Amino acid sequence: MHNETLISVKNVKKYFDVKAGTLHAVDDVSFDIKKGETLGLVGESGCGKSTVGRAIIRLHEPTAGDVILDGKSILEYKSRKELKTLRQKMQIVFQDPYSSLNPRMSTFDLIAEPLRVNGNIKGEELENRVYKMMDTVGLEDRLADSYPHELDGGRRQRIGIARALILKPEFIVMDEPVSALDVSIQAQVLNLLDRVQDEFELTYLFISHDLSVVRHISDRIAVMYLGKIVEITDYKSIFVNPLHPYTQALLSAIPIPKYGYERERIFLEGDVPSPIDPKPGCRFAGRCRKCMEICKESMPPLKEIKPGHFVACHLYD
Ligand code: SF4
Repeated sequence: MHNETLISVKNVKKYFDVKAGTLHAVDDVSFDIKKGETLGLVGESGCGKSTVGRAIIRLHEPTAGDVILDGKSILEYKSRKELKTLRQKMQIVFQDPYSSLNPRMSTFDLIAEPLRVNGNIKGEELENRVYKMMDTVGLEDRLADSYPHELDGGRRQRIGIARALILKPEFIVMDEPVSALDVSIQAQVLNLLDRVQDEFELTYLFISHDLSVVRHISDRIAVMYLGKIVEITDYKSIFVNPLHPYTQALLSAIPIPKYGYERERIFLEGDVPSPIDPKPGCRFAGRCRKCMEICKESMPPLKEIKPGHFVACHLYD
């Protein structure tokens, strides 16, 4: 059902100069996302997944590489007007709705703001669109004058989602959108994201540290470790047949009764290496039970091992 590519991320790098050297937050990451698809991006905190999301929509300028949206490089959007157009096409929902919403703005004004700033829409049309969007995301009209501190986490995140949707984007980066919410509210917000994806024909990059959240919503899943994508395939293959030792370790920590598999719990040993001026070789080598000599010398490239199943590991050379 998802045939046409909407986004191609090509060899994107994002480095930061820090006191101790150069921090390789994102190191040569490439993947495509098809129209209408959800790609889950998982990994431990600090692995660079949020930086990938921000680089794709140019909240961080990539150090190298390119992102092609609908056949056009996002780096070609230069003037203010062009960047406004890009903002309309690509949006982000942040993890913590409380810190991402201006506490002095009401629900109505928070949702209206992107329309006022980017769409130059006013008056009755503005009002109609804001109230319609509130209805779409499940916010009652009576909350229009409420401020973020008067609302619970779920409602605040619904405002964040409404702000992302109101400009009718094609693509949304969901950056840990339910991680700050109570478990009881997480499912409601995930259902909302699923429903509006169909209604607005949206494509998502869904970032999470939690594989059990990502599996509910993703068509394919990419696993990241220390700035690199180590495995990418459809969501079922990740759970049934994980090939990369890091993915296997991540999965061993969560029960998956649906597929009837008992897994051996794999405890990761060794320290997470520093992303500052990383050593050559596989980034996972220091913690991998299957590490070989070659792993310490050469970085395994991401290769297609089976149709649609890509892995970066010398075990599959
Ligand atoms: Fe382990 Fe080597 Fe594969 Fe890296 S390349 S995950 S160290 S086996």
